[in-house]
Amino acid sequence: LSTNTLSSSLHFSYLLISTPYRTMASHIVGYPRMGPKRELKFALESFWDGKSSAEDLQKVAADLRSSIWKQMAEAGIKYIPSNTFSYYDQVLDATAMVGAVPPRYGWNGCEIGFDVYFSMARGNASLPAMEMTKWFDTNYHYIVPELGPDVKFSYASYKAVIEYKEAKAVGVDTVPVLVGPVSYLLLSKPAKDVENSFSPLSLIDKILPVYKEVVAELKAAGATWIQFDEPKLVMDLDSHELGAFTHAYAELESSLSGLNVLIETYFADIPSDNFKTLTSLKGVTGLGFDLVRGTKTLDLIKDGFPSGKYLFAGLVDGRNIWANDLASSLTTLQTLESIVGKDKVVVSTSCSLLHTAVDLVNETKLDKEIKSWLAFAAQKILEVNVLAKALSGNKDKAFFSSNVQAQSSRKFSPRVTNEAVQKAVAALKGSDHRRATNVSARLDAQQKKLNLPILPTTTIGSFPQTMDLRRVRREYKAKKISEDHYVKAIKEEISRVVNIQEELDIDVLVHGEPERNDMVEYFGEQLSGFAFTVNGWVQSYGSRCVKPPIIYGDVSRPKAMTVFWSSMAQSMTRRPMKGMLTGPVTILNWSFVRNDQPRCETCYQIALAIKDEVEDLEKSGITVIQIDEAALREGLPLRKSEGTFYLDWAVHSFRITNCGVRDATQIHTHMCYSNFNDIIHSIIDMDADVITIENSRSNEKLLSVFREGVKYGAGIGPGVYDIHSPRIPSLEEIADRINQMLAVLESKILWVNPDCGLKTRKYTEVKPALSNMVAAAKHLRNRL
Ligand code: GLN
Ligand code: ZN
Repeated sequence: LSTNTLSSSLHFSYLLISTPYRTMASHIVGYPRMGPKRELKFALESFWDGKSSAEDLQKVAADLRSSIWKQMAEAGIKYIPSNTFSYYDQVLDATAMVGAVPPRYGWNGCEIGFDVYFSMARGNASLPAMEMTKWFDTNYHYIVPELGPDVKFSYASYKAVIEYKEAKAVGVDTVPVLVGPVSYLLLSKPAKDVENSFSPLSLIDKILPVYKEVVAELKAAGATWIQFDEPKLVMDLDSHELGAFTHAYAELESSLSGLNVLIETYFADIPSDNFKTLTSLKGVTGLGFDLVRGTKTLDLIKDGFPSGKYLFAGLVDGRNIWANDLASSLTTLQTLESIVGKDKVVVSTSCSLLHTAVDLVNETKLDKEIKSWLAFAAQKILEVNVLAKALSGNKDKAFFSSNVQAQSSRKFSPRVTNEAVQKAVAALKGSDHRRATNVSARLDAQQKKLNLPILPTTTIGSFPQTMDLRRVRREYKAKKISEDHYVKAIKEEISRVVNIQEELDIDVLVHGEPERNDMVEYFGEQLSGFAFTVNGWVQSYGSRCVKPPIIYGDVSRPKAMTVFWSSMAQSMTRRPMKGMLTGPVTILNWSFVRNDQPRCETCYQIALAIKDEVEDLEKSGITVIQIDEAALREGLPLRKSEGTFYLDWAVHSFRITNCGVRDATQIHTHMCYSNFNDIIHSIIDMDADVITIENSRSNEKLLSVFREGVKYGAGIGPGVYDIHSPRIPSLEEIADRINQMLAVLESKILWVNPDCGLKTRKYTEVKPALSNMVAAAKHLRNRL
């Protein structure tokens, strides 16, 4: 083995976990990789920067893996996963395992090392990275495999086997986890040259031989269980796709004989046809279900579960940070046991714990009472084990009773309940909330007041955040500088941003958001019902992590949140200054949300708080207010049947925020991600006056909606250039873009703006890019 491979078998002192721990049937689907203090992130970034060696990185990774395995073993978990660690992404690991490296990365066919692996993940000097997309409805992103008819699969990364052996060497016999072959292909996209003519699923017979090789090696290494993650089984699948599951596992059956096989599903209810397919797969010993999000799956199980098979009951939520209601879970487990048989129920997590925070132990600043309501990954392991013990008749009374106490303290805590808020939300029910006048009349009233040119120019909100600016915010938060000092510094920054925009001759200005670290956190910190962690990081992609706020109680707004800065900014210019807010759906989707009431309930509460803010901004003389709904689309449920309900309350929540403003007050909204074609009617139903959308990487797709005759009467600003790249777009290029839009959209509704906020860019990029943008708009105005 070269040292530059994805896994290295480092040597550990041999530590045998004694057998009494091994009797309970408990299982963990997967575990976070980053480490309790993001150790992997820092090791990766230092390696990428050339500041540390491959061996340094491998050492950090191996230490994290072994500490996780030991932690689970010591807790008493019976089925402990391996190969859920990843240097970047588990789907990319599967791509490496089957040798499906796109030809452009020039792989030589030997075992895949860091070079090729990280080139695919992050790009290199001459090539961009492979595409990344959201992992189901989580905030995790995976690297999308690209497969064409000519792909030659081969066994090219031995990571799964090496990690299995590595765990064994520290005394832990694990269940190796592989992305299942069918989900892998269903998660792939056709290679560029065969985009419209090829289905990766047709490669099933070509990919299975590699899986067989891996299985054979795992068996030889001593594995007795193997877990295939087949989360695609919770999606709406057609009979052809379902047939692929039946075919694949029949094909694998003889290779799998002698092994116990777990097929793990997660993230939603499993549709009944899929359930039928799953429960009749050949060679399978255990079936795993998400029983937190999949409440209907319980009924399917009650209606018939194959006899003799193990049910891995995912009752401990891998997507959230709340302590489990152990008493209620135990009741469910007992019901399940009565259906499938006494030793056939295995207590598990609803999905990989990858999607929750790592360890509550490091939350030293969290309020004690709130902390008692929470369980991060490390605590969830204990919950799984305690449930398994209780199910087998060995109830840990102390653990259960402190859990009962925490549950009831949460239920009855005055900080959770705010009756006024609940009444206000109850009063919303059943009625619609819309502005009284239709959009075209409103636009007329606004135009009278704003007097904007055609093709008005604007930006999305944030301006570059320099090191100095970030330092000022940090020092103010740490109370190292006074409030006066802070206000003065931010005021100077706003004034700089206003001047730049006036010099550029932009029509509708922004204050630049210098006071905000994050578009959700900024509001969460000022609303009641929110708590913040110090180390509650969750992997988003690669080494990137996010730290979602925790919404624990009824949400209310003690006082105005943005009026001070927005009216200060407006006082600096005669041009309209946009008030800048984050919308309720985005705040909801980017937080850890309460599980003691429906999501829509929480969303309505946030909507009412934002409504107050909108109205305060209006009162203070702000005439244009932007309410960002960057994350509206990503909250869409996985199953089509649930889409309408979500979109209804999400769009309703948005409308609540601005239903009370005057006709002449212009409401903007902004959305990230460009794939709107399927929800365009909901977007129209938001009834904003102007929408700006990320678009520049998918212009054609967006415009095709309008070409197909969708009526759109409100203002629309599809981004004219990509802010994710440092590249400066030319005047001609932008003008070209606008012309393409003008071919489809009426000139009087078209706005000219970048794709998204400019926070991550440098002034040296932003100034010339915006200057070209304004010039392009002016050039076209003269010709219209
Ligand atoms: N107003 C925000 C900004 O410009 C919007 C960011 C976003 O859409 N993600 O930063
Ligand atoms: Zn955006």
